[in-house]
Amino acid sequence: MAPASTPAAASRPPVTAWRDWRAWPESLASLWRRSLRFRTVLITVALTALAILIACVWMALAIQNDLFQSRLQQVESDSRRATQAAQRYLDAAEPQGDAVQLQLLMKQAVRNLQQQSATDMIAVYRIAKYSPIAPQDVTTGLEKSIISADLRAKVRAGGEPQWWQSVALPAGEGQQVAGIIVGQQITVPEVGPYELYFAYDLGAASQTLSFIQATLWIVGIALLILIGAIAWFVLRSLTAPISAAAETSAKLAAGDFGERLPVHGEDELATLGRSFNAMADSIESQIKELADLSLVQQRFVSDVSHELRTPLTTIRLASDMLNDSRDDFDPATARAAELLHAQVQRFETLLTDLLEISRYDAGSVQLELEPTSLAHLAEDVIASMSQLAEQHHTSVRLVAPGAYSPVDMDPRRIRRIVRNLLGNAIEHGEGHPIVVTVDSNQQAVAIGVRDFGLGMTPEETDRVFDRFWRADPSRVRTIGGTGLGLSISLGDARLHGGTLAVWSAPGKGSNFVLTLPRAGQRLDGAMPIPVDPGEDALASLGATQPIGVTSGSDS
Ligand code: ADP
Repeated sequence: MAPASTPAAASRPPVTAWRDWRAWPESLASLWRRSLRFRTVLITVALTALAILIACVWMALAIQNDLFQSRLQQVESDSRRATQAAQRYLDAAEPQGDAVQLQLLMKQAVRNLQQQSATDMIAVYRIAKYSPIAPQDVTTGLEKSIISADLRAKVRAGGEPQWWQSVALPAGEGQQVAGIIVGQQITVPEVGPYELYFAYDLGAASQTLSFIQATLWIVGIALLILIGAIAWFVLRSLTAPISAAAETSAKLAAGDFGERLPVHGEDELATLGRSFNAMADSIESQIKELADLSLVQQRFVSDVSHELRTPLTTIRLASDMLNDSRDDFDPATARAAELLHAQVQRFETLLTDLLEISRYDAGSVQLELEPTSLAHLAEDVIASMSQLAEQHHTSVRLVAPGAYSPVDMDPRRIRRIVRNLLGNAIEHGEGHPIVVTVDSNQQAVAIGVRDFGLGMTPEETDRVFDRFWRADPSRVRTIGGTGLGLSISLGDARLHGGTLAVWSAPGKGSNFVLTLPRAGQRLDGAMPIPVDPGEDALASLGATQPIGVTSGSDS
């Protein structure tokens, strides 16, 4: 895992985290996920950059095109004017077939062309066939190789008055500069047509274009930074109240009902804040109402249980008496006395459980801690319930590799939990052996009660600690459960800072594990007994060898 994603890296000061470039992608991704402001600014900047890029490229191309067109028009009219002037000069001459005269005429014509036009780079090539009097080709600074054969062919063919072509002109020291060559024909009297080419350099236009492009890019980047900064500041003013609302709602969710949003002004955010606060007020008052109601209910249950205790004691004494002397009654009355006795006992258990539950609800339960050996406590409980186990033809085996040394606990409550777990296992174990495991580690001691009986579905397992809940109320009850046993056990385990966990599967049985921390320890490491018994324990259901009672020294 990347260093930035570990908790230690997350709590590192941001500056240090940013210095480590390898953590950047991770930090940016987490910023993208967590910060609305960062995300919005990034999207705004990216879209603006795209728009500016398109605008700049478009403007640069348009300007480049415009500059070229105007320069082209300029050079075309310049070369046309110079050619017309030179043609007029040639037409006015009368060389009378003299080759020397003609040569001089050509030289002067080229000089005129240079004077009349804005360029010195001129070339003149003869078109017609060889003639002894025809002046020689002239080139002034314009290499023949630069002019393409295509352009030359077009000029030779005549037709349009002018032809042009974009070229790269040599600019000294191996450099090149953009240029235009314009070609047309010129006629020398008594000799015939010549090709005439002018080369114009576009260096100045290129410089202007570069300057405009640089300016465009600088303005574009400045605009981008400006828009990014504006988006950041605008969003800050918007997201600050949203962050405050998120923080406040998190505190409310955590149970801090007094928390409210600060409200300033009358804009939409203020309206949101006022609605939020009104909602918090309403939730707070409803929760208070419910808490008051729950308190009244708790008191009611506690008062009723107390009030019922006195008459119930009298009824129980009377039912005991009747039950003791049932041999003297006729069979029907004796059966009635027996039933009355059993139901009064059940009623008394229910009342005791209800009183216990109401004590938890009132928060008035006090633990009476004393050093107790969990292994020995388990042995005692197993021994005390051996008769019930025998009635169900169930053998209970104790596997206790640890948890002999005393640990602080309330033995009365822990005994009640173990008795309840074992009672349930016997009752729902369908006669299969029950394995009670006791073990310990550095942090905790634990006891697991594993049966291989009916088991429960995941939905039933989820509800097993609910008050008054039973998987199937029609199941045959032999020890008269009230449906409160496991919720009381869970309350007792929690009072000790411990846990009571369950694993169960239909047809495979159940495993309840009570884990109690040693004094001053917390239950955050590996548990001494896993809740899921795994395949090994399941296999022991079909083990041919009986599961022996093993014991060893405490860990
Ligand atoms: P009860 O007094 O009914 O035993 P508990 O709270 O102890 O109340 O148990 C609640 C219900 O959980 C039981 O009625 C039973 O349906 C189910 N249950 C508890 N232990 C087991 C077990 N070992 N196997 C199957 N079902 C169980």
